[in-house]
Amino acid sequence: MIIMKTNATKEQIGAIVSRIENNQLNAHLSKGEERTIIGVVGDGRPIQQDQFLHLPGVDRIVPISRPFKLASREFNPKRTIFPLNGLEVGGSQIVIIAGPCSVESRSQLLETAHAVQEAGAQALRGGAFKPRTSPYSFQGLGIKGLELLAEAKEQTGLPIVTEVMSQEMVSVVKQYADVLQIGARNMQNYSLLSAVGKSQHPVLLKRGLSATVEDLLMSAEYILSNKNPNVMLCERGIRTFENSTRNTTDINAIPVLQALTHLPVILDPSHSTGHWEYVTKIAQAGIAAGADGLIVEVHNNPSEALSDGGQSLKPERFAELVTHIRGIAEAVGRSLPNPKETIEANVDVFGMGNG
Ligand code: PEP
Ligand code: MN
Repeated sequence: MIIMKTNATKEQIGAIVSRIENNQLNAHLSKGEERTIIGVVGDGRPIQQDQFLHLPGVDRIVPISRPFKLASREFNPKRTIFPLNGLEVGGSQIVIIAGPCSVESRSQLLETAHAVQEAGAQALRGGAFKPRTSPYSFQGLGIKGLELLAEAKEQTGLPIVTEVMSQEMVSVVKQYADVLQIGARNMQNYSLLSAVGKSQHPVLLKRGLSATVEDLLMSAEYILSNKNPNVMLCERGIRTFENSTRNTTDINAIPVLQALTHLPVILDPSHSTGHWEYVTKIAQAGIAAGADGLIVEVHNNPSEALSDGGQSLKPERFAELVTHIRGIAEAVGRSLPNPKETIEANVDVFGMGNG
């Protein structure tokens, strides 16, 4: 980490970046209010520090002690905040992403999308490509699912969060997604992580089923080192010996991540509990613990859902969750944005006219 002097000029910073790149190293800039920090990343071979130390504008050189570098608070003491449809992920407002586990049909998606929008969600989730444990389970509608998400976005104005499962599909999924979701099962798919990094599209990175906090941050590092700074991390429950819930919500991970990294941290109380009855309570716990947002599964008819029905909230229960979260957010000095007006006031959800 090359720490520049507070009065370092743009030209001095530029000269250092050129020297870094001429050495076949990568330069990553972190521009603070007072000074710029330049992260120098190589491939593990020792770097001659002296060549930078005496250049004009350099204050000092400090090694980053953690294995994750660009994700660390040492490198970027300021929190990462990035825009999502007029909102700021990681800012003072809590971001709530909601929608079905899978996109199943036009009516299912549009009905659920309108309901979550009216209840106060700021983004719509829905899987078109589903990473299922069994090859015999519903695998998602694929491209058709993406097209339905685009229609839901057009009608509600909600930005889309959807999973991309393979490197080859990044360029397609990114045409529909405002945020690319990397699922728990793919958290260590390094070629996929590099590809979403190169895409320069915002990413929601879910913690792997048996991944440590450090593993999660090392995965984020793959995205950041490909020069994509817009990454939010998601605690979605981990495997433990406890089997009364689907997973165990690692509430600890929220303040731990907030201490170790500048990246926004959100909680998925649906997968972390696996039962709709516990979702609201655990969502509240997550916001109280400092999460920057939530991703919640909501289905217009959970008993008929093709995936994760047992953990999906009905729309009215989701509306209650939002009310509870508003209270907790205010108690911890955060807030929730008010629901936006639907873009088209009288949308014809089912394309059936008024009859
Ligand atoms: C999902 O969000 O529906 C999903 C598959 O989540 P995870 O990757 O956390 O299991
Ligand atoms: Mn799911």
